[in-house]
Amino acid sequence: MTAPFPTATITGYPRIGARREQKKALESFWAGRIGAEDFARSVHTLRIGTYHRLAQLGLREDYAIPASYSHYDHVLDTALTVGLIPSVTTGTDFDLDEYFALARGTAQRSPLEMTKWFDTNYHYLVPELSDDTRFTARPQHLLSLVSEAKTAGHLVRPVLVGPLTLLALTKPAPGTPTRPLDRLAELTDVYLDIIGVLAAAGVEWVQFDEPALVADIAGTSDHELAEAAHRTYSTLASARTRPQLFVATPYGSLREGLDELAGSGIDALGVDLAAATRASDPEYANRLAAAVPQQVRLVAGVVEGRNIWADDLRTSLEVLQGLERESLSVSTSTSLLHVPYTVEQESSLPVDVASWLSFAEEKVTEVEALATAVTAGPDARVEAFNRADRARRTRAESVRVHSPEVRKRTAATAGQDGFRTDFAQRRQAQDALVIPALPTTTIGSFPQTAEVRRARADHRAGRLDDDTYAQTMRTEIDRVIELQEDLGLDLIVHGEPERNDMDQYFAENLDGFATTEHGWVQSYGSRCTRPPILFGDVSRPNPITVGWSAYTAQQTQKTVKGMLTGPVTILAWSFVRDDLPLRESADQIALALADEVADLEAAGIDVIQVDEPALRELLPLRESDRAEYLDWSVRSFRLVNAQVSPRTQIHTHLCYSEFGEIIDAINALDADVTSIEAARSRMGVLDDIADFGFERGIGPGVYDIHSPRVPTVPELVELIEAALKHVAPHQLWINPDCGLKTRSYAEVRASLANLVAARNQVVAAGIPSGARSETPAAAVGVSV
Ligand code: GLN
Ligand code: ZN
Repeated sequence: MTAPFPTATITGYPRIGARREQKKALESFWAGRIGAEDFARSVHTLRIGTYHRLAQLGLREDYAIPASYSHYDHVLDTALTVGLIPSVTTGTDFDLDEYFALARGTAQRSPLEMTKWFDTNYHYLVPELSDDTRFTARPQHLLSLVSEAKTAGHLVRPVLVGPLTLLALTKPAPGTPTRPLDRLAELTDVYLDIIGVLAAAGVEWVQFDEPALVADIAGTSDHELAEAAHRTYSTLASARTRPQLFVATPYGSLREGLDELAGSGIDALGVDLAAATRASDPEYANRLAAAVPQQVRLVAGVVEGRNIWADDLRTSLEVLQGLERESLSVSTSTSLLHVPYTVEQESSLPVDVASWLSFAEEKVTEVEALATAVTAGPDARVEAFNRADRARRTRAESVRVHSPEVRKRTAATAGQDGFRTDFAQRRQAQDALVIPALPTTTIGSFPQTAEVRRARADHRAGRLDDDTYAQTMRTEIDRVIELQEDLGLDLIVHGEPERNDMDQYFAENLDGFATTEHGWVQSYGSRCTRPPILFGDVSRPNPITVGWSAYTAQQTQKTVKGMLTGPVTILAWSFVRDDLPLRESADQIALALADEVADLEAAGIDVIQVDEPALRELLPLRESDRAEYLDWSVRSFRLVNAQVSPRTQIHTHLCYSEFGEIIDAINALDADVTSIEAARSRMGVLDDIADFGFERGIGPGVYDIHSPRVPTVPELVELIEAALKHVAPHQLWINPDCGLKTRSYAEVRASLANLVAARNQVVAAGIPSGARSETPAAAVGVSV
C-alpha cells in the first residue's frame, strides 16, 4: 500500500535552530574552530531535534515533515542535486569546501550572485547555466537526509525546488545565448532519475516547490510556464517507479498554471490559501474547488507561512469546508522559513501583543488543530480555537493599535505628490557641498566589533548607564571617522554602531512597533534578522538619529551623511499589519521620518541618505499589481523628503541589481544620488541605467561586501572604467555594494584602501568623457 498524504503538514521549516545552533556551527566551521566532522554532527543533531519537536507539535503522520534543511540555501542544494552546478560531490553530503566556496567565494573565486527569493527577505544563490553544463543526478544528500531521519524514527519528505522554478531563477552564464528555461526537457530527465532513486530507497512522497508558477517571470509568459508545467509534471508522473508527487505553489495564487498543473498527473497540489492571498484573489478557493480533480490531494495552505498573526481558525475552517472535498489536507501557505521559532521564548513582548502572535511552532499547532477540526469539529481542539477567538477580539479592540492623531495626519497628506524642486535647480544649490570628482563614500555601517555589541547589550539590559553607553558609541564613531579620513573617503558616515539592525533600530524608536528578543529569521546563509512587529499606528515620540549625526559633524571638517531607513524598507523587513493596508502604514512611517529629516537638517546635516534596499522586494509577483504598489511606495519615500531645502542632498541606497523593471520608479524616488548593488553582477545593471538615460548621481557598488574577499585595485579600476562607459563622470559615485557591518575591520580597511586607490588611479589617468552625457563635470560640484 502506498502512504496517503498526511492530513496535516507544513511545506518547510526554519533551519537556523531555535537558539541559532546552525549559525554557530557554520561560523565556527568557517573560522576553522571546528572541523567538518563536528560540523556534520551538530547539524545532524539539529535536524533530528527539529523532527522530534515537529512530531510532538502534531506532525505525526508519515511524510508530514518536510526535509527542508539546508546548510546555506535550498536553491544551491537543488542546483547541485541536478548537476546544474557541476560538482565533485561523491559522499553522502555535499563537498563542504566546494559548497561554501560557491556560497561565499574564496580568495580565488567570486561566490554566486545572491538575490531575493520571490517577494521575501530570504536571499538565494543564483545558479548560472552555461551551454556545456550537462545535468546529472546527484541525490546522495537527499538519501542521507531520508535515512538519518528514518533511523531516528521519522519518515520525512524530501524537498527540491521544482524544475520550472529552478530554471526560472537561473541566469545564463556570461556569453551563453541559451535561455535556461529552454533546457527544461533535458533537466526533467534528471528529475526523473532522482525520483527513481528516491523510489528505490523506499521514499513514498517527494515535494517540489514551484513558486515560479504564481509569479510573473521576466522573459516568459504565464501561458508558457503553465504549459511547461503540464509537460514537465506529466513526464514525471508517467515514470514507472516513482514516489508520489506533491507540488507546492507558495506566495500567491495560480492562474493559468492551475488547470495545467492539477491535471498533469501529480498526486498532491499545495496551494497558498492564506487570508492575504484570498484577499488579493477572492475567487481562488472557488477556482480550486472546480479545477482540482478528486484524485489529486488538495493541500490547502490556509495558515499564513510568512507573517506572524495568530490564525483566525474559524474563518480558516470555513474556507476548508467551503472547498467541499474529501481528499483535503491542511498546511501552511508557504514554508515557515520566514518566521521565528516560537512566541514562548519571548518574555519582554507586551502580553497583549504576544497573545496575538503565532510563530513557527504555534503555526504547526494551528495546522494540526484545523486538520483535526475538519473531520472532528472545532470542539476537538477547543483550546486552540479559544486562543484564536481571544486574539481576534482583543486585537480589534486594543487602544494600542488605533491612534486618531496619526490617522488625521496621514489623511491630511492625501493628494500630495511630495516632489521637491526641480532636480536641475537642486543640483546647482548642492554645488555648495565640496565633493571631488568620482566621490567615494560608504553605504553607512562599519564593522560591528564585539565591544560595540557588548555595550549595546549591556545598555539594553540596564548593566550600562546612558552616559557610559553614549561615551562608548562616541569613541567608536571617533574611530570610524579617523579611519575614513585616513583612507581619504570623501563623504563621511558615523558607522551606525548604535544600530543592532537598520530596521529594528527604527522600530524600537517608533511607537506602533514591538521587537522580539529571539525572533530570528534567516536572511541568507548564517545571517539572521529579527524582524520587528508592526501592530499599530506609527508615530515618532523623540528624535532618533540626530544626536549621533550632529556629534559626527562636530568631529570632522568633511561633509557628513545622515542615515535613515526608508518607510518601504521598514515595512518590508517587519512583520506587517493585516488589519490596515500597507500603503497607510507606509505613509504613517514616512511622516514620522519626515520629522527626523527636518531635525537632521536643523542640526546642520547637509546630506541625508534614506535607505530603501527593499523597494524591489515588496514588488508584487504579478505584473498587474505592480503599478499600484510602486505608486504608493515611491510616494511614501518622497513624503519623507518633501520639505527639505534644495541644497540638502538626498541619497538613497537600493540593495539589488535587477534595476530594469523598476527604473521608472527609481527615477520617481527623485533622490539626488542612488547607490546600488553591482559588483556581483559585474556592473550589468548599468546597461539599464544608460538605456533609460538616468540623470541623477549613481553609485554602482564596486566592492562586494557579501563576500570576505578583498577586491584588488586592478579589479576595482576595471569596474569603475566599466561604469564610466555607461554613465557620465559627473554622475558617478564610488562605493561598496552595501553596508560594512558584517565584515571585519581588516577586510574593510584593505578593501576601502583599494577602492580609494582605484578611484585615484582612474582620476589620475584622466577621466574619460562619459558615453552618455555632455554635461560639464563642474555642474554638480565635481572638480576634475
Ligand atoms: N545603511 C545601511 C548599512 O550600511 C544599509 C544596509 C542595507 O542596504 N541593507 O548597513
Ligand atoms: Zn544594501
